[in-house]
Amino acid sequence: MSRARRDYHHKQALNLVRDNQAVYVEDLYIVGMVRNRRLARVIYDAGWAQFLRLIEEKAERYGRTQHKVSRWLPSSKTCSACGHVMDTMPLKVRDWVCAVRGVAHDRDHNAAINILAAGRVERQNAWGASVRPPSGEAQGDEPGSIRRDMTAWESPALWRGARQQVWSS
Ligand SMILES: [Zn+2]
Repeated sequence: MSRARRDYHHKQALNLVRDNQAVYVEDLYIVGMVRNRRLARVIYDAGWAQFLRLIEEKAERYGRTQHKVSRWLPSSKTCSACGHVMDTMPLKVRDWVCAVRGVAHDRDHNAAINILAAGRVERQNAWGASVRPPSGEAQGDEPGSIRRDMTAWESPALWRGARQQVWSS
């Protein structure tokens, strides 16, 4: 990674942490994504994992909250307005309209609302990020030792309430 990009990441991470009491990030399933070679390159090029580490470091230094929501949170395909979950949300779709109430969404903005709301719910309830997919399929070598915490979407009412707070703020 170039020095310029690293400096840029430091600056962006610092701004994020200084300007916000809490930063919620999505723990992208990079290992799974690298099977998709095109996407993996985008993520590696962007230095996403390193950027998340910088945020974590700086949040600690500045006494800010930093929380990763579960990588299984359907942040992109859930309508942040009504909670309807779309069947699919291909990466190329940048704008979409919810079929239920016709709310128009910018993909990233909608996902950000969902992540912020989920992060608040998980923090409030001291739930950690789940390390298993919703189906309950075991990941890793020792399924018995994997912590199974609640995630926001497993408590739809709480998640919906938190989304409404974000929408009305
Ligand atoms: Zn909707």
